[in-house]
Amino acid sequence: MTAPRIEIDLAAFRHNVATLSSLVAPSRTMLAVKANAYGHGLVPLAFAALESGADSLAVLEIPAALELRRAGITAPLFAWLHGPGADFAAAVDAGIDLGVSATWQVEAIAAAAHSVPARIHLKVDTGLHRNGANPEDWPALVDAALAAERAGRVEISALWSHLADASPEDDAAALTLFQESVAVAAARGCTPPLLHLAASSAGIRMPAARLGLVRFGIAAYGISPFDDETARDLGLRPVMSVRAPVAAVDGGVASLSIGSADGIPAPAAGRAQAWVAGSRHPIVEIGIDSLSLDVAGSTVAVGDEVVLFGSGDDGEPTAEEWADWADTIGDEIVARASERLPRVYRG
Ligand SMILES: *Cc1c(COP(=O)(O)O)cnc(C)c1O
Repeated sequence: MTAPRIEIDLAAFRHNVATLSSLVAPSRTMLAVKANAYGHGLVPLAFAALESGADSLAVLEIPAALELRRAGITAPLFAWLHGPGADFAAAVDAGIDLGVSATWQVEAIAAAAHSVPARIHLKVDTGLHRNGANPEDWPALVDAALAAERAGRVEISALWSHLADASPEDDAAALTLFQESVAVAAARGCTPPLLHLAASSAGIRMPAARLGLVRFGIAAYGISPFDDETARDLGLRPVMSVRAPVAAVDGGVASLSIGSADGIPAPAAGRAQAWVAGSRHPIVEIGIDSLSLDVAGSTVAVGDEVVLFGSGDDGEPTAEEWADWADTIGDEIVARASERLPRVYRG
């Protein structure tokens, strides 16, 4: 009897990356592997992405990019979230492209670049208010970067922003604001070869936002960024499945030794279902380390494998359904799957 575990279907992931990258071609595909590849495992997913259509990878912070370099990845890497203690010297030495939102970052990066210029992507905020220079601060950021470029310390590789994906109208307004910011930079003499804006949502539904590259995240993991279409509707396949054997059956209730401490969202109890022996059964309770299924009237027995969520191909619930049951988004369901569960890679 196998223990609770997470299975990662690398063939499904490769299919998704190939599907998305051909959808947006000739725009290129940067694959977001932040947050441990949305809980799927940083290094294996990074290699699989590069084998199947992505030509660069995005992480949040420099340490994850360095980890990818140490694992032998030579493709372009992009990191954009830098606190005051960020190790820019290590990033520049490792040839990591750096997203830059503020003048202090340009100065710190320029100071850290000794032998080769640092490759930087200047970020303007287009309404998400999470980071990126405000439109008022944008000209000063561009000027600081141009000065560092003239001094041979940086190379301005790209201009970029991130969409809120709140509504198509908001994203269209953000695209306009982005184009205006590109024009402001051009008027100051800054015309880098690359522009990027879209993540999964706009990458799929807003061709005008694809620009030089799309930074795909959640869609590549087989979870739809939309409420009105599932991954299956989009031709994408779920990558993660969570499985656990039945540990005991008593009075029509099957118990499993997996629970909220493993990342299974407790508020979904009473609504969620799991799949075992060919059909779905209601989950009646989710504890910290255990979970109970109503299997009354079935032949479910100790040792049978239960799928909490998976591909959906045989009727198993998907992470998208769990997101509904737990009143959250699919990103949360997969990314919170605990580190303590072993990950088994297939395909
Ligand atoms: C997470 C992230 C992405 C990927 O977003 P998805 O919606 O998961 O496709 C792209 N760009 C940035 C800056 C991000 O933070």
